[in-house]
Amino acid sequence: MDSHAHLNLMPPGTPPETVLEKAREAGMVALVNVGTDRERSRESVLLATTFPDIYATVGLHPGDAHLWGGEMEREFLELAGTTRVVAIGETGLDFSYSDPPNTVQEASFAAHISLAHTVGLPLVIHCREAFDRVFSLLKDHPLPSRPGVFHCFTGGWEEAKQALDLGFLLSFSGIVTFKNAEGLRDVASRVPADRMMVETDCPYLAPVPYRGKTNEPSYLPETLRVLASCRKEDPASLAETLLDNTRRLFAMNTGHPG
Ligand SMILES: [Zn+2]
Ligand SMILES: [Zn+2]
Repeated sequence: MDSHAHLNLMPPGTPPETVLEKAREAGMVALVNVGTDRERSRESVLLATTFPDIYATVGLHPGDAHLWGGEMEREFLELAGTTRVVAIGETGLDFSYSDPPNTVQEASFAAHISLAHTVGLPLVIHCREAFDRVFSLLKDHPLPSRPGVFHCFTGGWEEAKQALDLGFLLSFSGIVTFKNAEGLRDVASRVPADRMMVETDCPYLAPVPYRGKTNEPSYLPETLRVLASCRKEDPASLAETLLDNTRRLFAMNTGHPG
């Protein structure tokens, strides 16, 4: 189960049918296609209504937070009512960007938290160089009953603990396979088994040995293998656990798609 992918951001000449076919051959059961702006959220919903093994989220990436407004909010509210939309995001804060400014990102993030609470869907959070502010905004707002996930988690154990205490899951990407990611592997080895997920974030962040190439869901087993090895678990049984976690968080029924 790829808990975070962007099939609609793949380079031209990689149709979703082909990418999905390869991924299914590699054992993928389902994937969550994550919206990053208005157009891409619509595309995600379209993918999810076209392919039974795709689920969608709707949200505005913090890098585009200046585009947030009432009209977009109304459209997300409407899209969130579609049966195959399973979460709100990706949203959050990315202070590695100076533009949009922090305050603009925080306004969009706060609005997404309220939207998720209103529609009762979990949040998909993108957090980079901004854990303190993300945690304080989450504490200042009522959260949905299934709070959500920190996607592509790259924080340390202190940040992991705070996210877990707030009821969130942590999703690990191909970064965990990188040679210099010793600290992240240590974090991944300590997260309770029922609180983690795995993702590609494709087309970005291809795992070793594909690092630097266009990432795709069929590469997910490489990330799973490294996660299993640092946790001293069997990759197949870890895959089952992570599949269960993802289904539970997103309230999806992959046994009976559609
Ligand atoms: Zn992200
Ligand atoms: Zn993403």
